[in-house]
Amino acid sequence: MNRIAVYAGSFDPITLGHVDIIRRIARLFDKTIVLVANSSQKTSLFTAEERKLLIEQSLHGLGGVEVDVFEGLTVEYAKRRGAQVIVRGLRAVNDFEYEKTMASLNRKLDPALETMLVFASPQYGDLSSRGVKELARNGAPLADFVPQPVIAPLLKKFGRT
Ligand code: ADP
Repeated sequence: MNRIAVYAGSFDPITLGHVDIIRRIARLFDKTIVLVANSSQKTSLFTAEERKLLIEQSLHGLGGVEVDVFEGLTVEYAKRRGAQVIVRGLRAVNDFEYEKTMASLNRKLDPALETMLVFASPQYGDLSSRGVKELARNGAPLADFVPQPVIAPLLKKFGRT
């Protein structure tokens, strides 16, 4: 059986914490799909296509990983792609309630689909896309937080080239 995982998120932009989760997941599945969830309700700094491109550039062609964009329910996308698992990352307790609610909702929508929560590596436990944007806005060094290909486009968004 072809084991397929969907790692869904905003990735606005991708951080080293996301990359770490993707690398760890990719070892466990035949295929890992990083899904840029394009929610029309959330305002994002990067367009979905920009986010997709930055993810691809940050993964350097990591084997077994594909990046896609989808506007709609992750469950629907997973079903269409024949995925068995939705992966989400867990940093601290404040992620827990939200992830538990989403997992329970998704289970109702498709009981066959499993949600897998993966703990952030300790060095990335406090890292978030939101935090990274705040650093970029204020011109702080970014190399410890985002992959190299993200740095220049991120600074540019804040007029800091
Ligand atoms: P969303 O807006 O859907 O939460 P994010 O792009 O912020 O999207 O995150 C996608 C997933 O990755 C979420 O499950 C989130 O908890 C997880 N995540 C975010 N940052 C990190 C990190 N530093 N380490 C591990 N997981 C993370």
